Amino acid sequence: MTLSYVTAPRTWEVIVAGGGTAGAIAGIAAARAGARVLVVEALGSLGGTGTNAWVTPLMRNVSGGQNLNRGLTDELKARLHARGDGATDPGGNDNWFNPEGMKTVLEQMLLEAGGEVLYHTHVVATLAAEGTEPSANGHSFAGESERTHLSALILHNKGGLQAFCAGVIIDATGDADVAVRAGAPFHAGDEDGVHQAMSLRFSLAGVDTGQLAEFLNANGQGQSSPDFLHFWMVWGKKSSLEPLFREAVAAGVLEERDGDYFQGFSVPGRPGEISFNCPRIRADLNDGADPWHLSAAQTDGRAAIDRLTDFCRTFLPGCERAYIGTVAPMVGVRETRRVKGDYTLTLDDILDCRRFSDSICRNHYPVDIHSVKGGARLLHEREGTAPYFAPDAYHEIPYRALIPATLRNVLVPGRAASSTFEAQSAIRVQQNCHTMGEAAGIAAAWAARDHGADVRAVDVAALQREMRRWGGNV
Ligand SMILES: Cc1cc2nc3c(=O)[nH]c(=O)nc-3n(C[C@H](O)[C@H](O)[C@H](O)COP(=O)(O)OP(=O)(O)OC[C@H]3O[C@@H](n4cnc5c(N)ncnc54)[C@H](O)[C@@H]3O)c2cc1C
Repeated sequence: MTLSYVTAPRTWEVIVAGGGTAGAIAGIAAARAGARVLVVEALGSLGGTGTNAWVTPLMRNVSGGQNLNRGLTDELKARLHARGDGATDPGGNDNWFNPEGMKTVLEQMLLEAGGEVLYHTHVVATLAAEGTEPSANGHSFAGESERTHLSALILHNKGGLQAFCAGVIIDATGDADVAVRAGAPFHAGDEDGVHQAMSLRFSLAGVDTGQLAEFLNANGQGQSSPDFLHFWMVWGKKSSLEPLFREAVAAGVLEERDGDYFQGFSVPGRPGEISFNCPRIRADLNDGADPWHLSAAQTDGRAAIDRLTDFCRTFLPGCERAYIGTVAPMVGVRETRRVKGDYTLTLDDILDCRRFSDSICRNHYPVDIHSVKGGARLLHEREGTAPYFAPDAYHEIPYRALIPATLRNVLVPGRAASSTFEAQSAIRVQQNCHTMGEAAGIAAAWAARDHGADVRAVDVAALQREMRRWGGNV
């Protein structure tokens, strides 16, 4: 059976596949850089993992006392703060946000810039321009003449299958869906193909946060304010809450694995609500690009949320009358496919604080692997002799890490950028995804307008200057 599709009567200079953490910012940046932009998003709101997987707060990325991600991230934070959906804690961390507010602000920024969005639409396939189709045996080449130029994306939504034509395509699906469908090679998982753990995040509302803060203060987890709670338990990591978890496991309220990772945070603009960075999904379900793993993660996570809710109500003072506020609509996926780019960022690049002449982002967030293999894996603690562990250290991410080696007019910002398993675990945090998205958006607009959509033809020194003009730190 041959599937047929209709071709949309309009074309765009830039189409962003996936309006998530990197994609929403990429769309805004491309629109501000003057391009006709469409963001195509599978769900009904922007922000991706940050909003729909409820990943709050933004992880800090600070070096020498300075936030490394500025530019559009600064504007986003300022707008969130202005409407009460963002906040700075007493320690000066300005990264707290309300995911619902984030959805609205991102959408406003995109539409104000003249960008368009098409929700409830999946990218399912790609079309290559004639004469640039991938070779039957895959891509072992990297020569300019042999690179695939994508002419369109095949989308699926309530209108059926449709081809949407674009100059440059930004693949911000987080899983490199576009690049992989176009035949681009990719990495996935660690040396055994095993991915980081997934989580299904949730929130509890109806919490007496004053009472909970009092309890935590008295039980070894000092809180700066009842408005900025942060508490945690991981087996064997000397959490003061470990005895409570032991008791709950013995009482049959929790399963042993529920203590593999437990963490709660306040959410600005949502008094009495705590957002949880858990439960961690069963270890054998670790591939977020496998539809069966993803679906089973949803059911596994929901059952665990029931147990954790019961635990909080029974064991944490202030939570007696708590109820589930949100089960995140998206499973939280930390790592799946990473495209093989013109450059692949490595662990050594991070530890040696490597600088690149085509840098588009600076990072000091550590290698942070939520391993399903058990035991601590690598360098989460900022301790060591490598240059990276100095308080004012950072490494850079080159523009080339966003360019799939075998494609001509595609950029991949975000967690699927070209990096090894270890390096990805450091660069994947939201603010870096924003900055990569910002770079990709400007570059895509320029490539579409001035360079026949060839993303390698972009003047990266000019891109860096433009990012600095927007307040960026590159
Ligand atoms: C459990 C968990 C906890 C984390 N904790 C933190 C934290 O505390 N702080 C922090 O800063 N970072 C944290 N991270 C990391 C960070 O949130 C992610 O790495 C980052 O948000 C990924 O951004 P992205 O743009 O690459 O992908 P996403 O934000 O996931 O965006 C991908 C978007 O593409 C859409 N999409 C996917 N496929 C298609 C398709 N085929 N067609 C159309 N649309 C599609 C999705 O719906 C989504 O909107 C955490 C991640 C997880 C999973």
